[in-house]
Amino acid sequence: MANIYANSTITIAASASSGPSEGLFRVADPKHIGRPTSSFPHIHTRYPLGHHSPDLPLLGRGWVFQERLLSPRVLHFAEHELIWECMESLDCECLGIEDDPDGEKNSWPIPKQSCHPGTWRSLKDDHVEITAMWHMLTRSYSKLVLSKPDDIFPAISGIAKSFGEATGWNYFAGMWKQIMIPCLSWYISPQSSRTRCVPWRAPTFSWASVQFVEAPNFVHLKKATEFGVDYPEGERLDE
Ligand SMILES: [Zn+2]
Repeated sequence: MANIYANSTITIAASASSGPSEGLFRVADPKHIGRPTSSFPHIHTRYPLGHHSPDLPLLGRGWVFQERLLSPRVLHFAEHELIWECMESLDCECLGIEDDPDGEKNSWPIPKQSCHPGTWRSLKDDHVEITAMWHMLTRSYSKLVLSKPDDIFPAISGIAKSFGEATGWNYFAGMWKQIMIPCLSWYISPQSSRTRCVPWRAPTFSWASVQFVEAPNFVHLKKATEFGVDYPEGERLDE
């Protein structure tokens, strides 16, 4: 399935829908429907769209994570407008996602560029950068909802395969042999809710063994590769 998305021309996503029965389309506010002008009836006008911060339940689904990131282009059907996403651009119809002073573009779930094989190939010798990139992917993915918890590895296997081909690295339980120490150095805050998955789905040293509400943190590579891993006091995951 990952190959289908990776080799697509464009993926159309019902991103405003939280289930398969909700479809792509919403009812538009009448003022946003084009109407003929009195002087030039063949010219239609409408009030410009105002930007709404998009609520996109589809992007909270675990399987959608790699489907979106592997697709070269995605057209999101949001509640009020369409959103275009490709390797170079993220834009909505009203262009408000670009102009948002609060940096909505920055809070968009993980940019597609960070999942491009060319990006990984160019960074594979920069272990600090590429480790940070894999951990960013892991942090985004680990909070998402999977109907079947044991899909945790299948639902990210397409990204892992692509990452492995680009870097030549060895994959193991959501981690990479070449950066194993920082991959093992994950922790969560004591206040954060988490549950060890039952039935078993991953070895306990892997982030994938836990169902997170907040994403896990990773000790920075430069710290983790020192002989003693420097965990913040009291923030280890107790068994
Ligand atoms: Zn907009």
